[in-house]
Amino acid sequence: MSPEIQPPSSFDDTSLDQAFGRVTAQAREEAAALTDPGSVEAFRLRWLGRKQGLLNDVSAWLKAAPPAAKKSFGERFKTLKDLVEGLLDQAAGSGHSDSALAAESIDITLPGSRRLTGAEHPITRTWNEIVSVFAALGYSVGVGPEVETDFYNFESMNFPPGHPARDTQDTLVIANQERRPLRDRLLLRTHTSPVQMRTMESQPPPIRIVIPGKVHRNEADDATHSSTFHQVEGLCVDTNITFSDLKGTLDHAMKALFGPSVKTRFFPSFFPFTEPSADVQISCIFCGGKGCRKCKHSGWIELLGCGMVDPAVFAFAAEKQPAYDSKRISGFAFGMGIERIAMMKYGVSDIGQFYSGDMRFLGQFA
Ligand SMILES: [Zn+2]
Repeated sequence: MSPEIQPPSSFDDTSLDQAFGRVTAQAREEAAALTDPGSVEAFRLRWLGRKQGLLNDVSAWLKAAPPAAKKSFGERFKTLKDLVEGLLDQAAGSGHSDSALAAESIDITLPGSRRLTGAEHPITRTWNEIVSVFAALGYSVGVGPEVETDFYNFESMNFPPGHPARDTQDTLVIANQERRPLRDRLLLRTHTSPVQMRTMESQPPPIRIVIPGKVHRNEADDATHSSTFHQVEGLCVDTNITFSDLKGTLDHAMKALFGPSVKTRFFPSFFPFTEPSADVQISCIFCGGKGCRKCKHSGWIELLGCGMVDPAVFAFAAEKQPAYDSKRISGFAFGMGIERIAMMKYGVSDIGQFYSGDMRFLGQFA
């Protein structure tokens, strides 16, 4: 018998209550001190162990009890055993693992971190729309470098050195190029036309390409101009390509971009690389041609330039691809500003908003 457990002095109710009260108090006290899984297990062995558990000692008191006291002793013993088991469950449940869980707990009532919905930039979207209109007509996409030589940007596009047309495109040039021949000097391309020449040099006719891309000019930024902007040019070269093909193609493209009721009209113009050249106007998409502030009450809006490829341009291409013989083939080219079309489509009045990165502006396109 363990000296820790003091047996009842006799088996009357009072003595039994006192003896069981002492044991109960001791079990509660020891259970309250349990802190980790190891001490909980030690408590279990100490009190409920099969051979040496303290409850075995308590049950041994029964041997000395008179038959009349066995029932009340048994009831008290069952109460004590239930209590010890209850204390053990409690200690096991509120031990180390619970505090670890508490430390890792999160407040599910806090607001989450919201991920913004991604969307195409309005310039990218307009770029893709224009390209897809021409892709449906069988055009493929041409690409080329933004840093170009004077030859591809100007000379091969029929801007001879010293020609006044060069002044219409104020050019950003790369520094320290003076020792090179003019045609090899590097600059930031002022239009995507160099890709027309690069494509013709690399493959014989027929050609149908659209060339979307970024271009640069030394211009002061204002509400409708930016020193960096985007263009889509097109080039079609084959046998028997006529101005009618050009008109039909652009009329179809404008209807595809702005709606089937849009009309087009062509005015004589000048570009070094096309002859004849034309400016294209579309009927005002805001007033339907009646006249409004946006179209300066004319009912028409000028939107792009175009023309039949100048034989001088074919002559440059023929230096590498003899099939570009202007006696046998013909072609047309056109170009439009992506920003200008996006501004019209989305009612944007300041071109700078496209580049500001302002989420309040960009969010409208999400
Ligand atoms: Zn109008």
